[in-house]
Amino acid sequence: MKLLVIEDEVKLAEYLRKGLSEAGYVVEVAHDGIDGLHLALEGDHDLLLLDGMLPGIDGLSLLAALRRTKQTPVLMLTARVGVEDRVLGLQTGADDYLLKPFAFSELVARIQGLLRRAGPRHEIEPTVLRLADLEVDLLRRKASRATQRLELTAKEFSLLTLLLRRQGEVLSRTELASQVWDMNFDSETNVVEVAIRRLRSKLDVPFDRPLLHTVRGMGYVLEDRPA
Ligand code: CA
Repeated sequence: MKLLVIEDEVKLAEYLRKGLSEAGYVVEVAHDGIDGLHLALEGDHDLLLLDGMLPGIDGLSLLAALRRTKQTPVLMLTARVGVEDRVLGLQTGADDYLLKPFAFSELVARIQGLLRRAGPRHEIEPTVLRLADLEVDLLRRKASRATQRLELTAKEFSLLTLLLRRQGEVLSRTELASQVWDMNFDSETNVVEVAIRRLRSKLDVPFDRPLLHTVRGMGYVLEDRPA
């Protein structure tokens, strides 16, 4: 089970990451609302732990934006005690809330309850994406080709996952930059080219058949082309 923790208080976020990892969850952390929303929309989390007060985008706005497209269960962590805030949170689409400070055992109990309620919907979502002999395990965050493990950085992994999810589709540098790096970049930056080059050196160079192709002037596409 994969959780996304969106919490700007670094100490609390680390405490949650550590505790929930030890409890057997795969935990991703974002420290502001913008990163958090991006990860929540892109990722395949089973549940979100969402702080109410966040820099960038506050918790409720993030939730409203998320709910336009996704029904990932959300447990709000809130320091606010007002009934109105609570009601507003639930109306906006939070599935449950927990007031800070909370006991870790209660947090785990709430998470388990929500995951149970969310039920088997999650079991049928693919957690392994494939193309030819390429295999990406989203849960374990592992990629392999022809059963050989690819040692990817976090960004390379995100880049590969995005290209793989939309295999056969040409993705522009601008789109890759905004989705993977969360940046609106101008053409001076070559962060995408550099990452593509690194990814290619691991993904394609050691193997006979390239999967990552450059479409001149347009972008990049991941596909298995006939030899
Ligand atoms: Ca906060």
